[in-house]
Amino acid sequence: MEGKRSCLSSSIPSDLLRRIRKLTLSILTNLSNGQSPVVQIDRFRNYCTETSGNCYCNCGISVGKELLTLQRECHTRRLDVLLRVLLVVQTLLQQNRHGSKRDIYYMHPTVFKEQSVVDRAINDICILLQCSRHNLNVVSVGNGMVMGWLKFSEAGRKFDCINNPNTAYPVPVHVEDVEIDIIGVARYILVVEKESVFQRLANDSFCTRNRCIVVTGRGYPDVPTRRFLRLLIEKLHLPAYCLVDCDPYGIDILTTYRFGSMQMAYDAKFLCVPEIRWLGVFPSEVEKYCLPQQCLLPLTREDKTRVEAMLLRCYLRREAPQWRFELDLLLSRGLKCEIEALSVQSLSFLSEEYLPSKIQGGVYI
Ligand SMILES: [Zn+2]
Repeated sequence: MEGKRSCLSSSIPSDLLRRIRKLTLSILTNLSNGQSPVVQIDRFRNYCTETSGNCYCNCGISVGKELLTLQRECHTRRLDVLLRVLLVVQTLLQQNRHGSKRDIYYMHPTVFKEQSVVDRAINDICILLQCSRHNLNVVSVGNGMVMGWLKFSEAGRKFDCINNPNTAYPVPVHVEDVEIDIIGVARYILVVEKESVFQRLANDSFCTRNRCIVVTGRGYPDVPTRRFLRLLIEKLHLPAYCLVDCDPYGIDILTTYRFGSMQMAYDAKFLCVPEIRWLGVFPSEVEKYCLPQQCLLPLTREDKTRVEAMLLRCYLRREAPQWRFELDLLLSRGLKCEIEALSVQSLSFLSEEYLPSKIQGGVYI
């Protein structure tokens, strides 16, 4: 354990610019003295495989440090990337402009070679400067969508979703500039894994009939979607349920909403949604809803490996034993299915029977 991460005044650009100058100055001083710079980066994780429960995962406490020096070639390359990205960030902050991770990549594509190299450098910079990604004026292109009983504004631009609760709006990217206008109108928030299911619910006027808000991250949720969802829950104090495929990917997406991702474990406090409940589709429901054999697919070898690894995650043991039980059942039965398999009963079964009955009956974990 190496000390706690603080995010006090880090969102003030002048403060960040001062930290950037301090960091680059220390590197330059080392270099001008003929020494290798040493850049210390705290490491965070959102889970481990400890069974004791005595770990510091996902609580903003670093679990070690990484030292980057010029003694190793791979570190030299990382420092090169880090300083190039830092320069872009500095310019964005100085000019009060925003850029995407993709914009940054295209500034030196031959050096960066792939997007993940830039993404890693941005995460390292956030850790070094003790801030969140949006504080650097780096935004991702929003992938999420929202519809339902909600009014909000983003930097003065108004979005009146209630006018047509079954129309999709993009999730705002600048979540720090969002204000939620109406409190206490919707009854709950439903998060769905897939766009196809989101569209199904829109077609069935699900939000109108159930007075709710529906959000989708379209697969693994990006940072704006997770921040927006957190903002909704904090401001509206509504229960949030999550509907995912009954397969390892679906359940991993579910865990990303609740526990965050390993890459951004340093910012878990701002990205996790601990309140979210798993609404379905549970492995234990396959029989209850009489899904025919042709809707069920056998788990592949890769699926099984993925589930076995997920079963070891400390947060499931500690905070979600019922999720772990269902995951175990998925593995022992060896069969997976998609949410859409429920449509085998009828096209509107999902929106008219499955979801309302589960929410009203409290059948979530
Ligand atoms: Zn742990």
